[in-house]
Amino acid sequence: MQRRGAFRVTVSKDDHVFASAHFITFAGHRCEGLHGHNYRAGVTVEGALDEESWWVFDFVALKKIMRRLCDEIDHKVLLPLQNPRLQVVEEGESVKVAYEGTPRYVFPRRDCALLPVPNTTVEMLAELLTTRLRAEFESAGARGVTAIEMEVEESFGQSATCRVTI
Ligand SMILES: [Zn+2]
Repeated sequence: MQRRGAFRVTVSKDDHVFASAHFITFAGHRCEGLHGHNYRAGVTVEGALDEESWWVFDFVALKKIMRRLCDEIDHKVLLPLQNPRLQVVEEGESVKVAYEGTPRYVFPRRDCALLPVPNTTVEMLAELLTTRLRAEFESAGARGVTAIEMEVEESFGQSATCRVTI
């Protein structure tokens, strides 16, 4: 029998966190200093019910995926690769960062997460996690998912959300 409701599941757990360093650039000629946040991610997934399990997506599997995605950027320096003001260059075991041509930082490569974003704002981190989760759904063969809404909080009561329909 066809169910009539629209369904969504939400996972927002205390271990879906990542403690990472970052800095962002602003309009004009301004660039933040390096600092860190205890980020926290929460996700809502909308979609059709699985006809055997009667769920949108398995909570256990979703929690595992979210934990893995957070682990990928946990305890790292988050560096944007698409920022026209920043030059991020890998050299052997190091990553060199320059702001508008002026050398600013050198980090060990293993401590960096080089990200395909223009700035490491919470908006862009939410988009990044959404893209990663979508890829995980595709490889898991989850065809019923119709939307992903990812929230990333950078401090208590301060967050951004990215919603993508599939
Ligand atoms: Zn910050």
